[in-house]
Amino acid sequence: MTVTELPTDIIPHSSFRAEVEEKSGQKISACFQCEKCTNGCPVTFAMDIAPHRLIRSVHLGLKEEVLKSDTIWVCASCEACTTRCPNGIDIAHIMDTLRQMSQRQGFPASRKNVPLLHRAFLTSVKRRGRVNETGLAVSYTLKSAGLGGLLKQGMNQGLGMLRRGKLRLLPDRVRAGDQISDIFKNTEKKG
Ligand code: SF4
Ligand code: SF4
Repeated sequence: MTVTELPTDIIPHSSFRAEVEEKSGQKISACFQCEKCTNGCPVTFAMDIAPHRLIRSVHLGLKEEVLKSDTIWVCASCEACTTRCPNGIDIAHIMDTLRQMSQRQGFPASRKNVPLLHRAFLTSVKRRGRVNETGLAVSYTLKSAGLGGLLKQGMNQGLGMLRRGKLRLLPDRVRAGDQISDIFKNTEKKG
């Protein structure tokens, strides 16, 4: 991980902040940079812009730096930051909003495979209401490494994991599958 050097001469402009606030429903301008979000985040070691700095960057209008950052993809959506924020800012939801914006507005992720994993995860949840590890591993490896990579990894790791009972071949389906499918439909409608 390389820490992103943010520009030192910044002329703040508010259009990006307004866009993120509107899409996420979160009041980013309420942030007073206490750093509690960053101090509680378990994955800052792998981020290029710490969460409180990312929020500040949105505030200042550094759209490109934010939407191209590793941070928005490294975020594990654990919500530790959200529960710690004294101003009630849902930072995890902002991260999710930024991921969507970066994809929809054509910003390339700094690590190309991370969005692939993200999409494979969501597709698995959309289909069955929960993640099926085998399906997720197959779909992700096929997209990221092609058929050759899938065969190689399947032989190296997949078979061993199956033998040890770490992977389930047949997917489970949750009872509330229809409700989950409605959640996806409503979210896609809202854009
Ligand atoms: S915890 Fe909330 S107020 Fe504090 S830096 Fe993070 S976003 Fe800003
Ligand atoms: S939701 Fe993301 S940014 Fe917030 S604490 Fe968890 S990993 Fe860190």
